Amino acid sequence: MLTCTYIEKGKFALTEKPKPKIQHERDAVVRVTLASICSSDLHIKHGSVPRAVEGVTVGHEMVGVVEEVGSAVTNVKPGDRVTVNVETFCGECFFCKRGYVNNCTDKNGGWALGCRIDGGQAEYVRVPFADCGLNKIPDCVTDRQALFVGDVLATGFWAARISEITKDDTVLIIGAGPTGICTLLCVMLKCPKQIIVCEKDESRIRFIREHYPNVLTVTPDKCLEFVREKSGQRGADVVLEVAGADTTFRLAWECARPNGLVTVVALYDSAQTLPLPDMYGKNLTFKTGGVDGCDCDETLRLIAEGKIDTEPLITHTYPLEEIEEAYRIFENREDGVIKIAVECGTTDKS
Ligand SMILES: [Zn+2]
Ligand SMILES: [Zn+2]
Repeated sequence: MLTCTYIEKGKFALTEKPKPKIQHERDAVVRVTLASICSSDLHIKHGSVPRAVEGVTVGHEMVGVVEEVGSAVTNVKPGDRVTVNVETFCGECFFCKRGYVNNCTDKNGGWALGCRIDGGQAEYVRVPFADCGLNKIPDCVTDRQALFVGDVLATGFWAARISEITKDDTVLIIGAGPTGICTLLCVMLKCPKQIIVCEKDESRIRFIREHYPNVLTVTPDKCLEFVREKSGQRGADVVLEVAGADTTFRLAWECARPNGLVTVVALYDSAQTLPLPDMYGKNLTFKTGGVDGCDCDETLRLIAEGKIDTEPLITHTYPLEEIEEAYRIFENREDGVIKIAVECGTTDKS
């Protein structure tokens, strides 16, 4: 079968590999229908994910149809349409039992698919702990509507869930990339008084204005002043930092009001400083990232009810055979790209 493989630092290539088999009684093999490209895939390509294994099939955001299950799998069966979770988790350890699945202590736990074990930019993928990692897609939800449930939407949903947002709040979201937009969609479900999105890219600001006209937008250079003006000079009650740029961590806590909450969703390339003397007396609460992707049934239900719609994020669609061109567009942010759907079921339809 065809796979997109991490060859070495700086290089992904389409390669042929054997179709995966069940290796453990809790495994499932999924025939991938749609996959997507995530910025974490680019981090692997650039060599900034030390745990990523050369030769691994990349891709950790996909939907498909269950092809085969191990003997201990009970929640899904062959023929079920499913979303695949970015995180591998056992469901049984101390952290899993408390919903902190990102910290699953199983040796295969955490971000394994498309990093340490073969992922889903391929025609088939083996999913460990299939009862935890697969969620059935309701009949009324299409593959395209469900594509982001296991990764970027899971992140946005988790970020909004832990941010203690109330109806009186002014919420600032820094960054309107795919994860930022998913975060916005989930923050909107909490109905805060006002939402401000800070983004430097003009085409992304346009996207927000077109699709979510009630959301205020601002560029980073004017952000602090704008947030103060919109909040009676207090600052934002809740800030979600999704951008991960050099200056956005500082911007996040500067824009938060005293006793406010800052949720750091972003993954930074370098260490950030917490200049405690500068923020003394602000009495902030920080929450930091690493999605617990255990709300996928709930997000699928919200999609089925029409309350979350991530389909507009899919700006481009390519067949798996042309994934190298898809990567080029995504990496260079050409043509207003937000997310790319990769059709994986094209080469062998029989
Ligand atoms: Zn990802
Ligand atoms: Zn666990």
